[in-house]
Amino acid sequence: MISVAMDGPVGAGKSSVARESAKKLGFIYVDTGALYRGVALYTVRKGVKDTDEDYAQKVEALLPEISVEIKIENGEQHIFLCGEDVSEEIRLPEISMAASGVSPIPAVREFLLELQRDIARKNNVLMDGRDIGTVVLPEAQVKIFITAKPEIRAKRRFEELVNKGVDTTFDQVLNDLNRRDYQDSHRAVSPLKMAEGAVLLDTSELNFEQSVESVVELVKKVL
Ligand code: C5P
Repeated sequence: MISVAMDGPVGAGKSSVARESAKKLGFIYVDTGALYRGVALYTVRKGVKDTDEDYAQKVEALLPEISVEIKIENGEQHIFLCGEDVSEEIRLPEISMAASGVSPIPAVREFLLELQRDIARKNNVLMDGRDIGTVVLPEAQVKIFITAKPEIRAKRRFEELVNKGVDTTFDQVLNDLNRRDYQDSHRAVSPLKMAEGAVLLDTSELNFEQSVESVVELVKKVL
């Protein structure tokens, strides 16, 4: 099996570029952020907030009740939380922040680790996240660290949210993005960083097609 690990910060174009590149390569695209979002959604529904005292313990206590599953339907990844398709709901900005809240908790990362590895054992995958090349699939044949300047990433994310009809401002998006970047790269467990042997792909000056082409080229080199 071939594994491509793609890591990078918010709004680097990761998921859209990864999805299209995987399609071109005939690989399964796995968006691991959706798993953290699934866990986060459950905690939000249970009224647990990251400002709560004993937040990590509260989240950890909920894990045995949670089941998250990835199913591929018509080539698209769907996320099921305890049997319910929550693929849309997990994209809300509130859940993005909550995902960044649950993701530093070691028990949460442990909970999702095997699930991710299992998919890669059974399929050729292009998996994106924050720690795929460093922790989840350190043996991946191709590792890509995809990034872009913060203002460019915020602009892309802002446009994406506006297109979905989410009421927000550019400044709010830039703020959230900087906060999430900081949290993701400063946490003790599995922080976002470039994996050893990863290729840096800066998409600031690249359009979507060029970014996809770069990824496909990188993968084809090792096929
Ligand atoms: O990629 P996405 O923005 O959907 O991820 C949501 C959150 O999940 C990230 O901000 C990060 O905190 C967490 N995450 C992670 N490890 C991954 C994927 C996502 O910690 N492999």
